This record gives sequence, C-alpha cells and structure tokens, in this order.
Amino acid sequence: MTATLQAVSPDLIQALQAALGADHVFTDRERLEPFGRDETEDLHVWPEVAVFPGSTAEVQAVVRLAAKHQVPIVARGGGTGLSGGAIPVRGGIVLSTRRMNEILELDEANLVAVVQPGIVTQTFQETVEAKGLFYPPDPASRGSCVIGGNLAECAGGPRCVKYGVTRDYVLGLEVVLASGEVIRTGGKLYKDVTGYNLTQLFVGSEGTLGIITEATLRLIPLPPLNKTLMAPFPTLDQAAQAVSRIFQAGITPSACELLSQAALNATEEHLGKKFPREISEAAASLLLEVDGFHDDDVERDALRLGEVCLEVGAEDVLLAGTPERARELWGIRRSMGEAVKSQGDYREYDVAVPRALMPDALRAIDAVLEPLGLRALSYGHAGDGNLHVNVLRDALSAEAWAAALEQTGPAVVNAIVKLGGTISGEHGIGWIQRGLLGLQLSPANLALQRGIKASFDPHGILNPDKVLPPG
Ligand SMILES: Cc1cc2nc3c(=O)[nH]c(=O)nc-3n(C[C@H](O)[C@H](O)[C@H](O)COP(=O)(O)OP(=O)(O)OC[C@H]3O[C@@H](n4cnc5c(N)ncnc54)[C@H](O)[C@@H]3O)c2cc1C
Repeated sequence: MTATLQAVSPDLIQALQAALGADHVFTDRERLEPFGRDETEDLHVWPEVAVFPGSTAEVQAVVRLAAKHQVPIVARGGGTGLSGGAIPVRGGIVLSTRRMNEILELDEANLVAVVQPGIVTQTFQETVEAKGLFYPPDPASRGSCVIGGNLAECAGGPRCVKYGVTRDYVLGLEVVLASGEVIRTGGKLYKDVTGYNLTQLFVGSEGTLGIITEATLRLIPLPPLNKTLMAPFPTLDQAAQAVSRIFQAGITPSACELLSQAALNATEEHLGKKFPREISEAAASLLLEVDGFHDDDVERDALRLGEVCLEVGAEDVLLAGTPERARELWGIRRSMGEAVKSQGDYREYDVAVPRALMPDALRAIDAVLEPLGLRALSYGHAGDGNLHVNVLRDALSAEAWAAALEQTGPAVVNAIVKLGGTISGEHGIGWIQRGLLGLQLSPANLALQRGIKASFDPHGILNPDKVLPPG
C-alpha cells in the first residue's frame, strides 16, 4: 500500500511555504533534527520537511499537498512517544501541531472543554483545575506531551485505575482525512449511537487514519482531597495479592503503582539518595493513593488500604502526612523512566495482563530473559495490570544486543498472550512493535484492520509503516 510514496520535491516545498508562510516550514538539517526522533530509545530517521500549521484549514492544505504529491505525512505532538509513532520512518513531511494549542471553549454548564490538539496536557489540566474541574488522564510525561498525542495513543497513567484512560474522556473530534476533507464526530453529547463510533476508532489510531485538529473532552468535578501511602512487601506475590484484595475490599484507589526492587534501586542510584530501608530492601512496593470530596471518606479509605496491605504481609505502611511527603513519594515513581534511561540502552515492553496474573507475567518474562543473560527493571500501573518491563542491554555488544532483541520480543509477547494479556497497555504499537502484532491478533482480525486502514487512507500516506505489520 505504501509502495508508490514519493520524496519531497522542491515544488512541494514551495507550495508548503505558500500555504503556511516560509517561517512555518523547516528544511534545514539543524532545525529538522529533533523531528526525526521521539522518546523511543535512540532511534532517529530524518524527515524531509517539518511544517507548523496554525489552523485546521492549514492542516487541510498540507494534507492535500501530501496527497497530491504522494508524500508521507506524520503528525507530531510533544514527541514523547515510546513506540516510535512520531518518527518519520519513510521520510516526508512531519506536521507538528505545536501552534494549535488553544482551549477553544470551557463549557462549565456541560462539563466539557473543546481544545486544539497541540495544548500541553498539564497546561490543560491546570487550567481546568483552577475552575474546580478535572481532566484525569495523566501520563507521567504530561508536562511535555500534548492532547493530540494522548488521543492518538489513548494515553493512560496512574489515575486511570479509578478514572479510566484518554478514550473515556473523548466526546467528539474534528479530523482531517487523508484526502484533505474534514469530518466532525460526536459533540458535547454523553449519548450518541448514530452510525459507527468513528470517534473511538480515531482514538488510539496513532496518526494512521487521520489528523486530529480539535477534540471535545469530558470533564468531571475535581476531588479536592487525597492521601498517599507506600507499602513495601517481602515478595512480589504478596504485593500483587494486596492489589486484588484492595479492590475486593470495595476500595478503588486513585492510583495503585507497583515498583519492583530493581527499579527502586536504580531510581535511588539515579537520584543519588537512599530511600527508607523498608523500601529499598523490599522485593516490591505499592504506591497507593485515595481521593475524594469528604475528609472522613478519604481517611477511612486510606486506613483500610493500609490494613489490607498489612493483612497480606506488608512490612510497613508509610502514610504521607503532608503534601510535601506525598510529592516525595510520587517523585520516586515519576523518576523511574529517567532512572531506566540512565542505565544505558534498553527495550521497554508495555504489556498488560489480567491484574491478578502480574507475578506470573513477571516470572514468565524473567524465564525468557535469564538464559540470554539479560535483566529487566519493572514497574507499572498495578491496578490496571499494566507493566513497564525495561530490558537492559548492560554490557552486551551492539550485535549481541540486536540478536537478543530478535528473541526477546516474540518470546515476551508469546508469554504474555498465553496469560490472556496484550502487547501494549498504553504506549501503542508504533514502529517498534508492529512486527509483533501477528503474535496476538488472528489473521482475520489483522485483515479487517488492514481493510480499515485502506478505506481511510487508500494511498498509505498517513504515518506509513506504523501499527500494522509489513506484508
Ligand atoms: C517519561 C515518560 C513517561 C511516560 N509516561 C506515560 C504514561 O504514564 N502513560 C502513557 O500512556 N504514556 C506515557 N508515556 C508515553 C507518551 O508520553 C504518550 O504516548 C503520549 O500520549 C504521547 O504524546 P505526544 O504528544 O508526545 O505524542 P507524539 O510522541 O508526538 O506522537 C505520538 C503518536 O501520536 C500521533 N499524533 C500526534 N498528534 C496527532 C494528531 N493531532 N492527530 C493524529 N495523530 C497524532 C503521532 O503521529 C504518533 O503516532 C511516557 C513517555 C515518557 C517519555
């Protein structure tokens, strides 16, 4: 489907400059360099041109030109993706939404916001929070990723265990299709069953079906109170058992994160500070949070959370008595991504399994890695059964590392699929995982997905070579 894609010609550059103004079209290598990467390992592929439209009409103009010249076009948000989604692997045009960063409407009566795709997630969240409203999806990258990228990846985060993921907050979209036509889906509607649900098809489609130019997002009232706890456990199984027991006890925490000892120790090393002994020596710890609107409810839930952890065998429960202490505990979790990076080359698997099978998943992955002499730093959103397993290259040569990855990918996926799990819980398939899709999805399922792609993008210009496997 992508065989006829063309290189960017001088004519196309001229047409892009005429459509957007020369200031909003980059062609020199120095300024193009950052648009060849995202946060996925150390991958880089040069785009031929990067463009910065300021309106839906300008996005339309760029897409029409890409369609006319049969050139690849890759939408880009904050560039924080972890599956290579925004990397222009076939060259062509990178379309950054960074100039389209406005909140167009904050409709407090309907609890809805209408936003452009380039608004930074944290900026949007802080703006609505100042009005007592809440947009919960909170990827740990929220200070640098944007809503368009979150929609395209269906981003999750720690709070999703209670509040749901990005797709649960999307009521409607405006999308520029591969032809350059614009469609609107949904609206400020909490109920709408008219036709197929295209809104939800675009969410998580990683820029392969259309370019999102506006989103209508659901908001909820902001719970003003919360309590944070950390509970270290002598075994991984006990930590996982505590997670199941918390939900069985009727408490839905607003965060429930699992931190393995190896990941905690790497974070200590990265931050250059020692955590309390109970935490740094525990096989696994849970970072828990409860929130709500009434002091009594939040106190009671926090107390009950601690009791459940102790009943299952936690060595201690550390309750953050002040917001500063809570921030410190969260700081440990939020530094883990950087701590992994500081260890050198790594490959992240973002698998999800039924919640109670997390220890089986980690053991199965260890069984794959051990014979290859590899180790992993693991942590994740335990309440969702979503684990970030970071396999480290350590001292392997580049060739041995590449060979090891050839084996670990399929082996990890097979082990996870056997447990009823999935290749990606929230980071997407993008470029680096597409070769693994056939291990999880049946040929009939894949054929249907190829048909969807072909009907939205018959010439394969939108983010080519992403999500679907070759062939
Ligand atoms: C330190 C760190 C922590 C992270 N933590 C989390 C986490 O907790 N949870 C989580 O889910 N993810 C997390 N991520 C991954 C990443 O931040 C998310 O996938 C995020 O949603 C990507 O948003 P972005 O704006 O950076 O998108 P980009 O990386 O720019 O793009 C991602 C994909 O979206 C497409 N895209 C971008 N904009 C549009 C648009 N307007 N229309 C159509 N397609 C578009 C791109 O083509 C690409 O395929 C983390 C990343 C880092 C580096």
